[in-house]
Amino acid sequence: MALPKTSDVVIVGAGAVGTGIAYHLARRGQRRVVVLEQDAVGSGTTSKAAGGIRAQFSTETEIRISLECIKVFEHFEDEFGVDIGYRKIGYLSLITDEADLRGYEPRIALQNRLGVDVRVITPKEAQVIVPAMRVDDLIAAVWSPGDGMAGPAEVTNAFARRARELGAVIVEGVEVTGIDLKTRVVRTSQGEITAPTIVNAAGPRAARVARMVGVDVAVHPRRRHIFFTEPFPEIPGPTPLTTDRGSGMYFRKEMEQLLISPGDVVDVGDDMNVALDAEKRDEAVEKAIHRLPILERARIAGGWAGLRPLTPDEHAIIGWAPGVEGFFLAVGFCGHGFQHSPATGRLVADWLVDGRPPMDLSVFDPNRFA
Ligand SMILES: Cc1cc2nc3c(=O)[nH]c(=O)nc-3n(C[C@H](O)[C@H](O)[C@H](O)COP(=O)(O)OP(=O)(O)OC[C@H]3O[C@@H](n4cnc5c(N)ncnc54)[C@H](O)[C@@H]3O)c2cc1C
Repeated sequence: MALPKTSDVVIVGAGAVGTGIAYHLARRGQRRVVVLEQDAVGSGTTSKAAGGIRAQFSTETEIRISLECIKVFEHFEDEFGVDIGYRKIGYLSLITDEADLRGYEPRIALQNRLGVDVRVITPKEAQVIVPAMRVDDLIAAVWSPGDGMAGPAEVTNAFARRARELGAVIVEGVEVTGIDLKTRVVRTSQGEITAPTIVNAAGPRAARVARMVGVDVAVHPRRRHIFFTEPFPEIPGPTPLTTDRGSGMYFRKEMEQLLISPGDVVDVGDDMNVALDAEKRDEAVEKAIHRLPILERARIAGGWAGLRPLTPDEHAIIGWAPGVEGFFLAVGFCGHGFQHSPATGRLVADWLVDGRPPMDLSVFDPNRFA
């Protein structure tokens, strides 16, 4: 697809966030939407996500966003004609520390008030859900049966396909190399394109793209690994997405394999290196065997690493970039950008088309780190 010379909105990045925005803009009748992707649709950090979907957030805004997204995932096939493998496998958090448990209480109260089924259960009840687990060191667990999982690639490609059907243009293999906000020219590896509005949806590379217009955004990519075992039917699926809060390790079943993350948070600097670190595999194995001793008999078959675009308070950054005109931020989605992409797309599209945020989005205010 050749690069158009002009557009009404340019979106930098065709991950879950950028394609979700493009789809909703096109759906709202926004003409001449152009998405610029340096690689391929969904090839960024969206392709590294574990696919987890939860309503357990700490703010009312994010819980409402989750509830909207869960409705979209439940009816995804009707809307997009694509099976995204959505399943309510639940989220289970294993607690060893009293202060950690106390920290959950106000959040659970808020979540329950908004209609989310989240409960504190006993270690023995947790063991009924995942019988292979050792629970003697736990004081409690937090269980939310309505949480689940789906395929990030399926969701992102469905957004992209439908956006294209509605008239949006998605150009792959084109890198944005500079932005001149005075002339609204976006420079790329394939020439220039003008746009009155430019949306930064560049995921872990968001700060790099923002620097092109002299704006600092507090998005700090941090590497995290996920490993997978050879088929291991000794732990029958489905298992919930289970997080050992003490060690940060989490696991869930993927067909017959077990996915295991050590829960690592590593600053890899500006080169954004996502090469696999063998030490992290050993760390994942050690933490996993502590919780699931039967895994002594399993073998790790492979793994990958990806970058989570973290912000200092772990809330995304959504809104007009401070101090400049025409540059919108939809960045810093931390470890929940895939699952929040359906509602993010709608909210950003409504904001851009109607000229104001459709609900109170101040928790995402780009000015809050100034
Ligand atoms: C190990 C791991 C597990 C995770 N698990 C989950 C999970 O269970 N649930 C969940 O919701 N989230 C999860 N996440 C987080 C999730 O992956 C991200 O929050 C989300 O994918 C961010 O989407 P995005 O569209 O903003 O970024 P991306 O998918 O990275 O998309 C941005 C795109 O911009 C492109 N781009 C960047 N710079 C330029 C440029 N200059 N020119 C052109 N294109 C450019 C990139 O190539 C990329 O394709 C996980 C992340 C990791 C690493």
